[in-house]
Amino acid sequence: MQREPVTAYVALGANLGDAASAVREAVQAIATVPGVTAVRCSRLYRSAPVEASGPDFVNAVVELQTALSALALLDALQAIEDFAGRQRPYRNAPRTLDLDLLLYGSASIDSVRLTVPHPRMTERAFVLRPLAELAPERVTAEQLRAVADQPIEPLGA
Ligand code: ATP
Ligand code: CA
Ligand code: CA
Repeated sequence: MQREPVTAYVALGANLGDAASAVREAVQAIATVPGVTAVRCSRLYRSAPVEASGPDFVNAVVELQTALSALALLDALQAIEDFAGRQRPYRNAPRTLDLDLLLYGSASIDSVRLTVPHPRMTERAFVLRPLAELAPERVTAEQLRAVADQPIEPLGA
């Protein structure tokens, strides 16, 4: 079924090995998914682990247009995670690559595999800061203030 393209936002995070390269390669991989176009990436950020363990994270957010359903997009994102060698030994373990679907148009989705908007996105500076760069209208000043105490800086700053 052909559908109208939807604007979606994906959060990228990595904290094992060459995390910045893992994030950059993931952006390229997302851009080559059939049915995904117009990919724009925020700056890359470095953040201290929240709830998770291990070295600092490299984070970014990608905006894209897609003709895929939200679940088909999640399938593609999980395939990219798997290809990057993602393993899930325990909850919040260090990871080579994590791709979370933040927003899918204005949709609210609550299924076994997928909750959108991502339920924890507003708690996380490493999501809100890069998202605000790409889509300032999707993040409020109040939301940014609420996470202002979380250490995060643009990579290379
Ligand atoms: P968090 O969701 O708190 O960021 P996490 O990213 O470490 O934690 P994962 O182990 O990567 O969690 O994902 C667990 C499951 O979450 C996935 O198998 C996926 O089906 C489900 N899930 C639900 N909603 C989403 C979403 N919006 N984006 C990505 N995965 C989601
Ligand atoms: Ca996550
Ligand atoms: Ca995830």
